[in-house]
Amino acid sequence: MPEPILRAEAVTKRFGGFTALSGISASFLAGQLTAIIGPNGAGKSTFFNVLSGSFPPSSGRIFLDGTDITHTPQHQLAHMGIAKSFQITNLFPKLSVHENVRIAAQALRSRFNLWAARDALDLDGEVMALLARVGLTDRRFEQADTLAHGQQRCLEIAVALACKPRVLLLDEPTAGMSPQEAREMMDLILALNEERTVILVEHRMKLVMGISDRIVVLHHGTLLAEGAPDDIRRHDEVRRVYLGQSV
Ligand code: ADP
Ligand code: MG
Repeated sequence: MPEPILRAEAVTKRFGGFTALSGISASFLAGQLTAIIGPNGAGKSTFFNVLSGSFPPSSGRIFLDGTDITHTPQHQLAHMGIAKSFQITNLFPKLSVHENVRIAAQALRSRFNLWAARDALDLDGEVMALLARVGLTDRRFEQADTLAHGQQRCLEIAVALACKPRVLLLDEPTAGMSPQEAREMMDLILALNEERTVILVEHRMKLVMGISDRIVVLHHGTLLAEGAPDDIRRHDEVRRVYLGQSV
């Protein structure tokens, strides 16, 4: 049984008087692809943001490899091996595809490097490899905001990968995509999972069933179920929540 690489312990998140997450405990195992699913408003993005350190929980704790990272600053988390891509685009829209990835790759390196020139060459090779990984080699000189929506999501993943993460967190990477684009994105995510732990937020249950090792189901800010896809598919309460949707 693999160890949890990331773990949430009794996480609660309040926004004013509203409780968006209520005492959620869940483990994400090293090397696995775990999907966090649930209807819109279930608390998936809130949980994603707490897990990835975007904001702290109101109470409860987050552990990375057993180390408490609940109050660790964002930039430090990137160095510890957590990278994320949000539901909302956060690229540099006026920079090229190549520049967006290059900035992210550069951010991980020392600014004072004796071998700066050689390092720059290495960096370029690394950026090209990342662009090839997400299928954007041909678009590398284009301005990020001129890319099609699906390609922008792929670019965000390349930016996240530039931090060489051990844990890659993705919040609805298929949002706004055609069914064909969504399937291609799932293929990419599955391939990326061969080399790292992936945590994927997705509200469409059907899309993640075939590719996930484990599924975490949220509903009204609580943990409704957690288990292998087959267990989740058969789970009475999950079926009730997803009633009318094909699973
Ligand atoms: P999901 O991603 O599953 O659709 P969210 O985590 O975005 O759900 O939201 C869960 C609930 O928390 C929703 O009712 C939403 O309105 C509320 N919520 C999310 N973010 C905030 C915020 N910053 N302030 C107030 N309420 C919020
Ligand atoms: Mg969301």
